[in-house]
Amino acid sequence: MNPYDVIPLRAFRDNYIWTLRDSGHAAVVDPGDANPVLDYLRREKLELVAILNTHHHADHVGGNAELLKHYRVPVFGPHDPRIAEVTHRLADGERMTLPHFDLHFDVLEIPAHTRTHIAFFGAGMLFCGDTLFAVGCGRLFEGTPQQMHHSLSKLMRLPDATRVYCGHEYTLANIRFARAAEPDNSALRTLETRVQALRDQDLPTLPSDIAQEKATNPFVRCDIPAIIASASKYAGKPLADPVSVLAAIRDWKNNF
Ligand SMILES: [Zn+2]
Repeated sequence: MNPYDVIPLRAFRDNYIWTLRDSGHAAVVDPGDANPVLDYLRREKLELVAILNTHHHADHVGGNAELLKHYRVPVFGPHDPRIAEVTHRLADGERMTLPHFDLHFDVLEIPAHTRTHIAFFGAGMLFCGDTLFAVGCGRLFEGTPQQMHHSLSKLMRLPDATRVYCGHEYTLANIRFARAAEPDNSALRTLETRVQALRDQDLPTLPSDIAQEKATNPFVRCDIPAIIASASKYAGKPLADPVSVLAAIRDWKNNF
């Protein structure tokens, strides 16, 4: 297999278009805007070979059509007619092969941010769109706290070393909320120092990994006594089950 890199291309205010590339080819995940991708492909003399979409939001798929005008490539995405350009619709448990790269990705359905959100997992990498963020999770636009808990739990069962490539640079703000929800978590303080130093240099704080999320992300720590206590305080009543805790801290975060 050719060596490959995973490059973050910036789009809009805080989106990343994750780009797998070798010496001659590239595949992009969630190209919300075609321009940064086309610029990069031209500059690096790369040919686009595939587009992967995790969910239908415009800041993740808005560049599909323009890229397809320049490159006739397969588009891998969920069963959702709201992404018209998808040529290969994928369901939970299916495996796709990335053309030109000797890479295979397993598809995981992870609804909650949107009804049909999927993730791609393979070669030690997870592309999870807006469901799991570093130290956070996506808003519940089309799903329930129950679904988000289920989807995040599914991702937390992946190997600890799995690199987590999420769709936005939200880490620092997420850490500030997480510290309010779990003030005594020393892993959060250590991470904040590291993340602040990266942001001071305008560098990405991603990828994260599953072990880091287990240690720092309040939305996957809904069974930890400190999180249960602060969620209960926010809700004004004792909360016992992880789904109620997740619902409370999701609401708290929305108003933080
Ligand atoms: Zn989204």
